[in-house]
Amino acid sequence: MDINAIVSELTLEEKASLCSGADFWHTKAIERLNIPSLMVSDGPHGLRKQDAETDHLGVGESVKAVCYPAACALACSFDRDLLQTLGEYLGDECQAEGLSTLLGPGINMKRSPLCGRNFEYLSEDPYLAGELAARYVNGVQSRGVGTSLKHFAANNQEYRRMSISAEIDERTLREIYLPAFETVVRKAQPWTIMCSYNRINGVYSCENDWLLTKVLRDEWGFEGLVMTDWGAMNNRVAALMAGLELEMPSSNGETDREIVKAVREGRLPLEVLDLAVTRILTLAGKYLSNKKPDAVYNKEEHHLMAKRACMESAVLLKNEDQILPLNSQQKVAFIGQFAKTPRYQGSGSSHVNSYKVTNAYDSARDQYQITYAQGYDTGSDLTDEKQLREAVETAKAAEAAVIFAGLPDSFESEGYDRSHLSLPDCQNRLIEEVASVQPNTIIILHAGAPVTMPWAGSVKGILNVYLGGQAVGEACVDLLSGKACPGGKLAETYPLRLQDNPSYLNFPGTREKVDYKEGIFIGYRHYDALDMDVLFPFGYGLSYTTFEYSHLTIRVNDTVTDKGKDTDTITVTVNIKNTGNIAGKEIVQLYISDKEASVRRPKQELKGFDKIYLEPGEEKTAVFTLNKRSFAYYHEGIHDWYAESGVYEIRIGASSRDIRLTGRLTLESTTVIPFVVKDYTTCGDILHYAKDPSPFMELSGQQEGVPGSGKETKEDALGEGSAEMIRQMMDGLPLHSILSFDPTKSITIEAIRKTIDSLNSQQ
Ligand code: BGC
Repeated sequence: MDINAIVSELTLEEKASLCSGADFWHTKAIERLNIPSLMVSDGPHGLRKQDAETDHLGVGESVKAVCYPAACALACSFDRDLLQTLGEYLGDECQAEGLSTLLGPGINMKRSPLCGRNFEYLSEDPYLAGELAARYVNGVQSRGVGTSLKHFAANNQEYRRMSISAEIDERTLREIYLPAFETVVRKAQPWTIMCSYNRINGVYSCENDWLLTKVLRDEWGFEGLVMTDWGAMNNRVAALMAGLELEMPSSNGETDREIVKAVREGRLPLEVLDLAVTRILTLAGKYLSNKKPDAVYNKEEHHLMAKRACMESAVLLKNEDQILPLNSQQKVAFIGQFAKTPRYQGSGSSHVNSYKVTNAYDSARDQYQITYAQGYDTGSDLTDEKQLREAVETAKAAEAAVIFAGLPDSFESEGYDRSHLSLPDCQNRLIEEVASVQPNTIIILHAGAPVTMPWAGSVKGILNVYLGGQAVGEACVDLLSGKACPGGKLAETYPLRLQDNPSYLNFPGTREKVDYKEGIFIGYRHYDALDMDVLFPFGYGLSYTTFEYSHLTIRVNDTVTDKGKDTDTITVTVNIKNTGNIAGKEIVQLYISDKEASVRRPKQELKGFDKIYLEPGEEKTAVFTLNKRSFAYYHEGIHDWYAESGVYEIRIGASSRDIRLTGRLTLESTTVIPFVVKDYTTCGDILHYAKDPSPFMELSGQQEGVPGSGKETKEDALGEGSAEMIRQMMDGLPLHSILSFDPTKSITIEAIRKTIDSLNSQQ
């Protein structure tokens, strides 16, 4: 496509028309200039291509496709390669279905475990979410199909998601809610980004110039196009000015006419519209040059990928007495409706019309002597006493009981949030009662987000498969039997109770806004800061084998040392050995802890991870590369990342609460933070931060107690407590106030002003 030539031939009306959808899933075509109509489709963990009936709520029928594990599960794989391969599979499916763009992945942070859509998001940690999503995007796009990274940004709840204003300070946005997007843009250049419905600090994402242009394009270098979430348009002209090109779905021509009018009236520069059209045509060009009209895919092969992904993501939370894997000679009772009709995906726009679903009951019958009891009804919270009695008897008569428990569809969905963390009462009671008669009870958990587990102490095994995709049944059986080893660790914290969650008092906010008052302290950053007990920590997961960690080595630019600069490349290596009897994969995590932070920072933050496959007895080296950003926090004064000079601990862990090895690095910052002195700047700060504090010392020379005056108060005269009190007061004394405490009465306002000027002239 000669895009410049086409833009010059398009009429104003045609240009405007390209800026919104033709219908629910298509962009507009302009036949006279061979501009094709592009089809997009949800996403993210399988295709929801709708032909006739269209809706964005997952209600209408879509073509048969493969349903992979949802993001909540996939994130637990901590496996970049898996996400890349999954992306490639999805890309091939899109080619076969003639799609230009897959609407995903969703990478919003899990601020509260209640968010109804958490199952579609990856993690509470932006580093993990960004790393995994970047590979997913690379995978899809390597097949010549675009992705739409969503929902940009701060869509962390379903309650009033289309209008609420997320009130977030800059540091929190930069450190928590934006970095996953930044990583994907920098590492994978998604063809498109989908803006969120909500407002951020009062401004709709669709018309947020700071977000869509300054940060996304100018800072991160985004080259693709931005589209709205479905129906997320507010003011069409403002949105174009802010950098939003495509409105989806159709506006029935309404907003196209607004665009034309605004150009005619001089409110919208034609260049802005031309740039938007250029970006839309660039997407069309990519589609045309990459489309494979004859593409097909083998559904059975893709089904096996769904199974593999489920096993790589399953998290073994408890395995007392090594109850798992289960001996195949055993008589096993399978209990719970999910054993026959598993809950394997969430509701809403990501809902896939799976071409087949395997259940654990059918998959296990040739391996174990299976008995079955339904135990509960997913449609109800209440116990059916007859079902309960049957389940207890069935469990008692077997050698082990596997209860398939979890959240019913109605408990979590796009469109609304949960109000509590409990499983249905009937399931909690079932588990307690079965466990009281059957000591070998194992729970398989199907839920898209954390639940409380009041029975965790009464059962021997807990295997969390989240929403494991259409092959979940087979995958569960291979995991139960030990044919496969659970490969995941938690990508989010499981709190003991909802009240422990940091957003508890401010979720979901009022009708108009939600204050992110916990700031950067979400997820493990909060639980760690408060030394709070949790049910299961971030990064936690067991295996059927065991691993030993040794030989932590830190290199700065290839030399083993414990000192470096923020401009250096730091490499950390650690040896991992499989000390058990079976092959398995270990997820090794690297956390960084700033030991001398001058601002409040999380106790530790994930800055590296690796997943390593090891045969029994085998040892391999995990390698992590760190840079300035790994150590930095976002400095609101300079509006940039700042890794301050000081000592940092590098922690290598099997989970966030199981740190196996630590090393230290003394980092020297090369960034100079300008120190601007105001009349309220304190004496202590001047002495600490001014390049040359002597003008201040001259001014304050007469003052007893002022630090730097040479007349600091003597401890023996005042006693230790009072001396410290005076030192602290003087340290915090603003410059303008030294006038009031000047015993010589010689300091003038003029002298203070001059001191400020001369300190500031040092910058
Ligand atoms: C969802 C998006 C989805 C779109 C199209 C919206 O309601 O928020 O994630 O891609 O619908 O179905």
